[in-house]
Amino acid sequence: MPELPEVEVTRRSIAGRIAGAQIHGVLLGGVLRWPLNCAPEDLLGHRVQAVRRRGKYLLLDLDVGVLLIHLGMSGRLSFAHQPSSELDKLDKLGKHEHFALQTSLGTLRLKDPRRFGAVVYAQSEQDAVIRKLLGRLGPEPLGADFDLQAFQVALARSKAAIKPGLLSGKLVVGVGNIYACEVLFQAGIHPETRCCDLDHLRMERLHQAIRAVLERAIQRGGSTLRDFSDAQGQAGHFQLETMVYARAGQPCRVCASTVCVIRQGQRSSFFCPACQKP
Ligand SMILES: [Zn+2]
Repeated sequence: MPELPEVEVTRRSIAGRIAGAQIHGVLLGGVLRWPLNCAPEDLLGHRVQAVRRRGKYLLLDLDVGVLLIHLGMSGRLSFAHQPSSELDKLDKLGKHEHFALQTSLGTLRLKDPRRFGAVVYAQSEQDAVIRKLLGRLGPEPLGADFDLQAFQVALARSKAAIKPGLLSGKLVVGVGNIYACEVLFQAGIHPETRCCDLDHLRMERLHQAIRAVLERAIQRGGSTLRDFSDAQGQAGHFQLETMVYARAGQPCRVCASTVCVIRQGQRSSFFCPACQKP
């Protein structure tokens, strides 16, 4: 599933190229998770001003309104000029493509085999349809609102184990399974440790590790676990350098102890029993 780093990598791979583009056409395919919330022709003539991200949502700011895109479980965006030899394909959606935005600068296509993704238009970010999706998100880990003291207070109030706590999206958004495992390794925290049992120093290490791991993942183009690629077709490489994720039975890269895996909720938690303390 695309997580925050993959969505940010996607954003960076289209933002500069689509800014200023005028919308010439909108193609809709199969039903996605939520409806578009406007008639496709209502978007014609509008310009894309910028592309932002909040959690795992991409927000295309139009001159009027905002187009929210979620990649769901398996969604991938591509953005390309159509070569003149393929101009006859411009008004068709490819296999598993459910949305395309034809613009003066190229065509943005959403390919989503499992159709958990969505594209939703709203007149403003204050509309109920957007507020419902973005309103309850935890703080943005790479933004200024991911405040250490507030994070420490939230952790101290939670009796949940730290690994599912990170995945819940309430303490901080966008830390998916691969990144939660790597963050806890970097912070030296066992995944079953209760949030409220962490002392302030370990909370601070965790706070730093969240930023460091996500920033590193973005630098590496995200993780391509199944078929992620950015909007120019580039795969990510972070999965090749994980310290513990998907490495059960292999030696820890720091201490050579055997990396373990346990189930927490429905998810696998990979950790080093020597480097990560309860
Ligand atoms: Zn170790």
